[in-house]
Amino acid sequence: MSGLSLDATQLDRYSRHIIMDEVGPEGQKALLDSAVLVVGAGGLGAPAIEYLAAAGVGTLGIADDDAVERNNLQRQVIHGDDDIGRPKVESAAEFVAELNPDVSVETHELRVEPENAEELVADYDFVVDASDNFRTRYLVNDVCTLTETPFSHGAIYKFEGQVTTFTTDGPCYRCLFPEAPPEGMVADCATTGVLGVLPGTVGCIQATETVKYLVGIGDVLDGRMLFYDAMDMSFEEVEFRRNPDCPVCGEDAIDSIEAVEYAEESCAVQAE
Ligand SMILES: [Zn+2]
Repeated sequence: MSGLSLDATQLDRYSRHIIMDEVGPEGQKALLDSAVLVVGAGGLGAPAIEYLAAAGVGTLGIADDDAVERNNLQRQVIHGDDDIGRPKVESAAEFVAELNPDVSVETHELRVEPENAEELVADYDFVVDASDNFRTRYLVNDVCTLTETPFSHGAIYKFEGQVTTFTTDGPCYRCLFPEAPPEGMVADCATTGVLGVLPGTVGCIQATETVKYLVGIGDVLDGRMLFYDAMDMSFEEVEFRRNPDCPVCGEDAIDSIEAVEYAEESCAVQAE
C-alpha cells in the first residue's frame, strides 16, 4: 500500500480511518483533498467544524459575522471563555489550527447575502448549513441547488432537531417548504431557549453525512428528513420527493437567485 501520498504523520493520525476497507487511504485522501464550507460557527457549526477538522477535511471554510457571547458557551463548544467578544470565525480558526494542522481554514467574516452567496459557495465541494435563521437557510438552499453543490441542512428547536442532506439529483429544501413561515411564527433560540447538547447531536449528524458524502460511502439522507426528539430520545424519518413545481429545482425553476426576494418574512420566489 503506497499510502497515496499520505505522509507518516498522516498515516498515524488517520490510522483508524485507513484500516477500514470502507475508507482506506483513498477515502482519507479524498477527505484531505476536499473543501467544505460551514455556514455558521454556532451551535450546529461547532461540532461540525470540530469533527470535520479532526477527520482531516483539507480545506474548511467558515462563514459567520457574529462575535462570541457568554450565553453561546452553553452549546457552542469550540469557543471558550477567553473568546468572548472575539469574532467567531477567528475563535473557530484557532480551535481548528490547534486540533489538526493538516486543515487549512478559510475564514469569511460575513453574513451570507444574495450578493456574495454564489461566489462564496463556488470554491467548495460541500456546504454544511449550520445557520440559525430562515433567510440564510433559503439562500443556502437556493444557491447550492442552482450551482449543484451538495449540502447538509440542520435545524434545532428547544429539544428537537431535524437534519437532511441535499444532493444534486434529489429534492431541495423548497420542495418541502416552498417559503419561510411568517416572521415571529417560529421563535429562535434566544427567545425559546435550547438544550445545550441538542445542537451537538444534530451538528454531529451533519458532519457524519459530510464525511460519508466526501468519501463516497453509505446512504446519505437524500430525500429523507430525520427528526430527533431529545425529550423522548426518538428518531423519526419522513421521506420526501422532488416537487415538479418547486421554484428552484422544478420544471419552471428560476436560473438565478436574483429572482428571489430574501425578505425576512417569506423568502418567496417572485412570479415573473
Ligand atoms: Zn426543490
